[in-house]
Amino acid sequence: MFTPAIRLVCPMCHGELIWSRTQIGCSRCNAEYSYENGIPDLIRGGRFDDEDDAERTAYETLTNDYLTSNYWLPVFQRLFPKPGARLLSLGCGAGIDVDKLAAAGFNIAGIDCGNRSKAWPSRQHPERLCLANGRHLPYADQTFDLVYCGCVFPHVGVEGDSNRVTPRYWQDRLEIAREMTRVLRPGGKVLVSSPNRWFPLDLFHGRNPAQPYPRWNPPTSRFLLSAGDYRRLFGEAGCNRFEALPVRGYWGFLRMKQHWKGRLFAFPVETLFSLVSHSAFAWLRPSPLNPWIVILGEKP
Ligand SMILES: [Zn+2]
Repeated sequence: MFTPAIRLVCPMCHGELIWSRTQIGCSRCNAEYSYENGIPDLIRGGRFDDEDDAERTAYETLTNDYLTSNYWLPVFQRLFPKPGARLLSLGCGAGIDVDKLAAAGFNIAGIDCGNRSKAWPSRQHPERLCLANGRHLPYADQTFDLVYCGCVFPHVGVEGDSNRVTPRYWQDRLEIAREMTRVLRPGGKVLVSSPNRWFPLDLFHGRNPAQPYPRWNPPTSRFLLSAGDYRRLFGEAGCNRFEALPVRGYWGFLRMKQHWKGRLFAFPVETLFSLVSHSAFAWLRPSPLNPWIVILGEKP
């Protein structure tokens, strides 16, 4: 029988779930859920149809491994010096961050509704993983000390896995921001990151492995978010005390550095990351000079 590390509830009504070997049912609204490869499938609100490609998943596992060791872990240890803090990784992809942060003493859960979850059978902590959509989180109110996600919001409210936003992109993003806030305890933190909408190039999307050049990001596009967009979104969802964090260590530019042209791009970008990460230049973090933003907020 599946025993989740952090209690799961019905994503629709937050009622108690009844577990059997083959099925999961809600005791309150009678909704029925199933398992996929031994993991609870509590997805309501649609799957994310990201590219299902083993090579891409392997590469993302590598970058997420780097990101977890070099960025998330030190940030979380600074925010929560005592072990056992409850974290939710929203859109955890292949889920390597969940394994690593559990090993570092965090009580972490990870959800995803995309195809990279096919890598989950090789994870060490399947009891910490669950298929779910961020618009309907399968957790009770006030469960977590922190909810974090890396580059999830640009992929919400778009057509499939593209950079074209739909007319209701803001409502879709707001639903997730509200759910993240709901599952946080008072004083809990949200931590979100993505390319900066104000930076003229998107260095992180729309490239295939053979093509190291960045994508042009027109100022009119609403695919990416700015620090102001996150402030407005999570402000509407009920959070406050926003802060743009340093970004150094977030990206290793591992793929870019495989190619000499990529290395030419990586050098100025890493220099920019170092500059805006310096406390004297914190005011530059939300500006068009910074390609990547990390925003911290708090639930009052
Ligand atoms: Zn229910």
